[in-house]
Amino acid sequence: MNKFSILKKYFGYTSFREGQEILIDSILNGQDVLGIMPTGAGKSICYQVPALLLPGITLVISPLISLMKDQVQALNQVGIHAAYINSSLRESQISKALRLAAAGQYKIIYVAPERLETYEFLQFAQQAEISMLTVDEAHCISQWGQDFRPSYLKIVQFIKTLPVRPILSAFTATATEKVKEDILCVLGLIHPQTLVTGFDRKNLYFAVETPPKKDSFVLRYVKEHADESGIIYCATRKNVDALYEKLQAEGVSAAKYHAGLGNEERRQSQDDFIYDKSPVMIATNAFGMGIDKSNVRYVIHYNMPQSMENYYQEAGRAGRDGERAECILLYSAQDVMINRFLLDSREPNDENTWEEMAELRERDEERLRIMTYYCQTTECLRNYILRYFGEDGMIRCENCLNCAREYEETDVTAEAEKIITGILEVRQRYGINVIAGMLAGETRAKLREYGVAQYESYGSLKELRETEIKSIINLMLAEGILHTTNDRYSLLRVSPQAAEVRQGTRKVIWKKIKADPAKASREKKTDAVRMRRSDLLNSRGLELFERLRALRTEIAREESMPPYIIFSDKTLVDLCVKAPFYRDEMMKVTGVGENKFERFGERFLKVIYDYTGGVREKFYFGELEEVQSQASFGQQKMEKAKKVDFYLTEEQAAAFPYAEKYLVTEIAEKLNELRDEQTVKKISGAELFRRMQAGEYAGETLTDGIWKKYVTEKGQAAGMFIGLRLSKAGKEYEDIYYDKKAQKMIVDSIIIEQ
Ligand code: ADP
Repeated sequence: MNKFSILKKYFGYTSFREGQEILIDSILNGQDVLGIMPTGAGKSICYQVPALLLPGITLVISPLISLMKDQVQALNQVGIHAAYINSSLRESQISKALRLAAAGQYKIIYVAPERLETYEFLQFAQQAEISMLTVDEAHCISQWGQDFRPSYLKIVQFIKTLPVRPILSAFTATATEKVKEDILCVLGLIHPQTLVTGFDRKNLYFAVETPPKKDSFVLRYVKEHADESGIIYCATRKNVDALYEKLQAEGVSAAKYHAGLGNEERRQSQDDFIYDKSPVMIATNAFGMGIDKSNVRYVIHYNMPQSMENYYQEAGRAGRDGERAECILLYSAQDVMINRFLLDSREPNDENTWEEMAELRERDEERLRIMTYYCQTTECLRNYILRYFGEDGMIRCENCLNCAREYEETDVTAEAEKIITGILEVRQRYGINVIAGMLAGETRAKLREYGVAQYESYGSLKELRETEIKSIINLMLAEGILHTTNDRYSLLRVSPQAAEVRQGTRKVIWKKIKADPAKASREKKTDAVRMRRSDLLNSRGLELFERLRALRTEIAREESMPPYIIFSDKTLVDLCVKAPFYRDEMMKVTGVGENKFERFGERFLKVIYDYTGGVREKFYFGELEEVQSQASFGQQKMEKAKKVDFYLTEEQAAAFPYAEKYLVTEIAEKLNELRDEQTVKKISGAELFRRMQAGEYAGETLTDGIWKKYVTEKGQAAGMFIGLRLSKAGKEYEDIYYDKKAQKMIVDSIIIEQ
């Protein structure tokens, strides 16, 4: 076995993704590695594949119980023996698992860091052959990461107790320099192969929206995507509860998750979501680490998160299967205040000195600022993200809302001056709402209470709407002309840079959205983003997808497994595209490995077979080859793939010249005359006959050294019969003829709905 055969046999994939191979090769050469890859990039494969090739056991340290269970379930499903050891097991279960492990039952064992110092585990580790120790979510070892876990420091002591130092491999999605240094240094990696890779998730569409009513936006979106699975992140428990109530009241089946719920309740809602019982999950950021659900089609942030790291990690839970998914952030100026408040109310940590606390606080402020700019920028959103994570972005990705939007530039220097004057006039005592209201000349009770009408600036920008004034203020904040106080009130203050505006040496240019953004984002889906199943599959294909999905749900129930562990959505789509009838055809489908085929393959084949009646059919639109070749091979192959497999539209098929009887080659000839020669390949008589064989309408047998065709009962009923032909040499032989009814069956089977 080598790494490729393992990849196909167990995981059903034919090629490695960016970075995976380098890390795997390094491990197999005995080198330590640090892999920094975004969520969904495929870190697990990087240690699971070498684990199977190394002589001994691989221990995987992982912070979350749910993560371990999920991974172990998935491994056992594909036929890899794995186990986990954590506090969810009883002592007797742990003893049993360790006994089996010592006897060589498992290649991969997931362990919670707390377990590493228990007597029983240390005993086991002394005797076992441990080839590799993998630290998953390795940023947990760093105090600078978002979720430092002191128990991770135990890993270092544990390694020291081992008779032989195993290869160390560490993985995380956090890319900041400080965290990286900490991992390398604290874990003591020796000359590691460090790889930061693939932060670009091409299948994710990014958008920042500022809807007047977030609830209505969410409700509309969720209803429009009713058959899809998605997560909605809120900043606080209160938000989660309120949104949950609202969606429930509107008849949306949702689950909710936050730290204020009991263990049992949390487990139940997590399961409901994972097992596709509730398509929508409304949660705080307590939800998600270790959730490997691959068919999450959207992640909506109801509030702005605290940092780009948090955002990208949470948003990255969408589209792990590589199919198109949407990441939408709903922004309002209030989000900045909520986040400040959350930072302020963070528990002080006894372990840090005062200086360290101040430094941490400053770092958090900086992260929040960068996150806020993301929400306000008019540049390409993907580019912004990639640059933050240290990768070269592109100018425009054409797969985010900002790239879809058109802006017009307006010089708002005069307006900016009035804003500065207004802020100074009220002696910098108010936040954005009061200032914008005052400048717009609003008469809300609150404004009257503050007596803003007495100021000269009152109504000085009344030709603008309040939201427009807020946008200009946000722009001035982003440009550093204004800033806000670092407390929960976020009072607007004038920065020294404002002087340049007042002196006329600095212009303020506002990029205003020109086109209707919702419309633009829908229209602008170019080839690169046509990866969604509804873009790929035709209506018959989508129906087949639903049937396969129903079977997947049925099997998931029988096995008590989440459906995506049986097969991912991507695999189901590829099943529709390839529509296999036989084992070797199905083995070419992405995500189908040997073990999974043995266990469920036949049942999926049967659904396809029953659906097609055994007649080959095309379930996708013609552009597919182009899209696929673009995604996987780049430009060169595109030229070749321009013509698509044979099909006819209903209109073209209507012109078929039916006759009393035809041979299959004659049918092929007539069909070819009807096709669009520019874009559609020819079909051969042999191919048509192969389809008849596959559908059990006809067959061939070898008698006395000669292949003879025959018609089955099903074929006879369909209008096929054996007739005599004359060979060139003047000899009679048998061949199959098709009457009008049979001709129609063939023609109908190749019509593609447009
Ligand atoms: P991460 O741990 O980096 O968040 P995972 O290891 O969970 O990501 O992988 C994300 C998804 O990508 C999984 O569904 C996995 O099966 C799939 N995947 C990983 N490697 C490959 C590959 N080489 N080809 C196709 N799919 C892959």
